[in-house]
Amino acid sequence: MTSPYADSPAPGHRTGAVGTGGERTAYGTSDPSELVTRAVGLARETQPWWASIGFAGRRHLLDRWRQELTAGMDDLAAVVRRETGKPHGDAMLEVGLAIEHLAWAARKAPSVLGRRRVGSTLLAAHLAATVEYLPYGVIGVIGPWNYPVFTPMGSIGYALAGGNTVVFKPSELTPQTGQWLADSFERAVGSPCLQVVQGEAEVGEALCRAGVDKLGFTGSTATAKKVMAACAETLTPVLIEGGGKDALIVDEDADVAAAAQAAVWGGMSNAGQTCIGVERVLAHTAVYDEVVAAIVREAGQVRAGLDVNADLGPITLPKQVGIIREQITEAVTGGARVVVGDAPGTNDGIGADSLLTDPERTLQPVVLVDIPEGARIQVEETFGPVITVERVADLNDAVASANAVGYGLGGAVYSRRHGPEVARRLRSGMTSVNNVIGFAGLPELPFGGVGDSGFGRIHGADGLREFCYAKSVARQRFTPPVSMTNFQRRTRTDGIFRAAVTVLHGKRPWRS
Ligand code: NAD
Repeated sequence: MTSPYADSPAPGHRTGAVGTGGERTAYGTSDPSELVTRAVGLARETQPWWASIGFAGRRHLLDRWRQELTAGMDDLAAVVRRETGKPHGDAMLEVGLAIEHLAWAARKAPSVLGRRRVGSTLLAAHLAATVEYLPYGVIGVIGPWNYPVFTPMGSIGYALAGGNTVVFKPSELTPQTGQWLADSFERAVGSPCLQVVQGEAEVGEALCRAGVDKLGFTGSTATAKKVMAACAETLTPVLIEGGGKDALIVDEDADVAAAAQAAVWGGMSNAGQTCIGVERVLAHTAVYDEVVAAIVREAGQVRAGLDVNADLGPITLPKQVGIIREQITEAVTGGARVVVGDAPGTNDGIGADSLLTDPERTLQPVVLVDIPEGARIQVEETFGPVITVERVADLNDAVASANAVGYGLGGAVYSRRHGPEVARRLRSGMTSVNNVIGFAGLPELPFGGVGDSGFGRIHGADGLREFCYAKSVARQRFTPPVSMTNFQRRTRTDGIFRAAVTVLHGKRPWRS
């Protein structure tokens, strides 16, 4: 079916694939900042048209994109597997969830962002007021490699639904995934509202400085600081989705078997390369031994490999293998015990081009106990198939321990009686109760962290508003008998105003 909107005057029907590495591109230049500037320019030219078709027009076209993504799910998942090494089923899961979010954002944008009346007050009874959320314009999105569809789509889909156009820089480890998303958008919508720019840090830096109206960054906290510094030069607002060190708390009354299963899946799936992955298990002393035994049983059944039947794929980022091994080795040297897996050496001589062939790239699950106080593995992101299990005296101790890290992204609590109460006390943006990572799959729920995990939100109503600004309008309905906002105001008017404020907010006159 031909879209009634596809014929609209969307300029320059071209997918903005921009390359680095010296090759000439569709834009005829290989200078990263020039390439990015051109992509942002094209996105800016297109944006007024995208905004002008309104919520209904965008929903129509975003629904077509959703259908295109759904039809190509298997193909996209295969690209993700090729680039990250993750099992095909895991790739399908992230694509499916991204599609769910896109549907929700397109459907809910009018009610969340559209103009609505807001109340007045007695003092301002002559004014009628409305608020609506207008698109910033062009949004830059910088994505990571670990969930190269689900994560950036949390910014891209929500920004587009709000009426923005987008320039997306995928991770240099997942360029084809990023290109697939832009190409599918082009097929479905036929306009360059979603541009893709490829390259490493210098292309990301160029995007920060290219005059985008807001930048959505997902990646490590260290890079986030550089991104903020670059954006600060032009006062470009930023959304930061940084790293995490999430804890799963097991209370004394918890379903231990369920908690152990959740800890192992939450910690090991995607080979532990999950920002909201479980990295620490904090078990109440009353059930600690039981929890360790159950986790050992569960983790012992999980196998990493390069074949299609493996539960876990390889470590995508070559240098991460060394970091994971160093953290384990340091903890073991300080007294930690390995209860699942082998204590590895620190060999990290791994080639970047051996993702799906080099067995050195796969790390088998590791579970550690008796962690020495102050070990890096307790506070730094490990980002591998490794979990630590610590004993805590009670729930207060568990909360204090979970909160004693700089990160504050997600987490989980297993408790029959105290789940929601403990969830509220955890200093993190999201917590699952008797479930793990569930919050990521609910489009209504905002996604994001506090502290070193960043600020701002993707997903949900907050995620839609993140890419728009509030526009407030106050319209005078009638001339007020007493007006404070002109130079004709006299002492009598000031007195009336003072009396009105006192009646409304001060001591009652008859009591004075
Ligand atoms: P990274 O910080 O190395 O890179 C992220 C992106 O930033 C890449 O596209 C990279 O090319 C770009 N980049 C690098 N240097 C840059 C610079 N100076 N200026 C601008 N852009 C620059 O992160 P990664 O290794 O790709 O991803 C893993 C990290 O992402 C982990 O810390 C993980 O926890 C985090 N993450 C967070 C979330 C979340 O929602 N909070 C989701 C997924 C991943």
